[in-house]
Amino acid sequence: MLTFFRRHLAWKLFLSYVIVVLVGVVVLATTTSFSVPAAFERHMAGMSAMMPGMMVNSHSMEMELFANYRASVTEALSLAVITALIAAVVASYFISRQVVNPLLTMMNLSHRIAEGEYKERLTISRDLSQMDELDQLVLSFNQMADKLEKTETMRRQLIGDVAHELRTPLAAIKGYIEGLIDGVIPAEGNTYQRIHDEINRLQRLVDDLQELSQVESGAFHLKPELVSLSDLIDTIKNIFVPQFDQKNIQFQIQIEPDLPPVLIDKDRILQVLTNLIGNALQYTPSGGKVTVQISKQRSEILISVSDTGIGISPEHLPFIFNRFYRTDKSRARSSGGSGIGLTIAQALVKAHHGRIWAESGGEGKGSTFYFTLPIPKKGL
Ligand code: ADP
Repeated sequence: MLTFFRRHLAWKLFLSYVIVVLVGVVVLATTTSFSVPAAFERHMAGMSAMMPGMMVNSHSMEMELFANYRASVTEALSLAVITALIAAVVASYFISRQVVNPLLTMMNLSHRIAEGEYKERLTISRDLSQMDELDQLVLSFNQMADKLEKTETMRRQLIGDVAHELRTPLAAIKGYIEGLIDGVIPAEGNTYQRIHDEINRLQRLVDDLQELSQVESGAFHLKPELVSLSDLIDTIKNIFVPQFDQKNIQFQIQIEPDLPPVLIDKDRILQVLTNLIGNALQYTPSGGKVTVQISKQRSEILISVSDTGIGISPEHLPFIFNRFYRTDKSRARSSGGSGIGLTIAQALVKAHHGRIWAESGGEGKGSTFYFTLPIPKKGL
């Protein structure tokens, strides 16, 4: 019985009202039991003074009158108790309807969300200025449901994308192996080299995915240090000059003199630059030009990588930082790109409190990628 009361808010409310009523009754009954005889005496004395002819002189009659007087007080009290109890029932019913019903709806909805139904939301009838705590709870619940729905959509999309990305190299490897088994494809170095290439692609994809999951979940720690931008550029030159020479693309670096050092995780920013310059190298045909520019713009350092390559059309431009997004799926896949590099670069720049964006005049008109790094305040 006690657990029943404990488990229902409406009953708890009712019980609390009953307790208040009972306390009131006990207090009233005690005070009346003390005050009624004295009050009776007073009234009788008053009456005797007013109407001496109607004097109640027999003791038994006085007792009877007193009993009647007390009975009517008790009757009035009982009536008051019954009315108070009815009021308690009605009040607890209405208040519990206001409190318990939204909680029950919230509970049912949370069960449905737990089962994977993310679409439904609770309704809020009042506007923000008139909300009580319960409405605010409903609002937070809806915001939580929004976030869960978004996360779930992203999770599904990611699984779909990963499956799609894995399917192509796996199908190629399977095709080569079946060809080898059936004797349709010759068992020669060239065949093994192709299989090896596909496996490399899978390996790169898996590495990229691991890195992506780390940067997207924020499960990586930056190791910031004061780095001179010319040091950074020296490292870049060592990595890229031979590759640009080999592809016969002009590689130019313009760095504003006397730039202040930046507080960055050197390896991570090198990773961003390597991705942007690597893309420029990949998407620029021989005879083209790639320029890296570093300058100071108010309180930040602006780094740009421009190329005279294939460019990006306006319909693709807004999406190129999305994971797995490639403007030309078949070409990028054959060149090994998984469309994750820019997503990782974006997360890394954001982790440094910078911004990253791209501009392009359209197809065939080259592209420029920009990112910023804040200049540390003096004293750091
Ligand atoms: P990927 O590994 O495919 O290069 P990224 O995330 O680095 O992945 O790039 C995503 C897509 O953006 C590329 O597939 C390409 O279509 C486009 N892209 C990136 N950089 C350039 C560039 N410099 N010129 C033209 N297109 C580019």
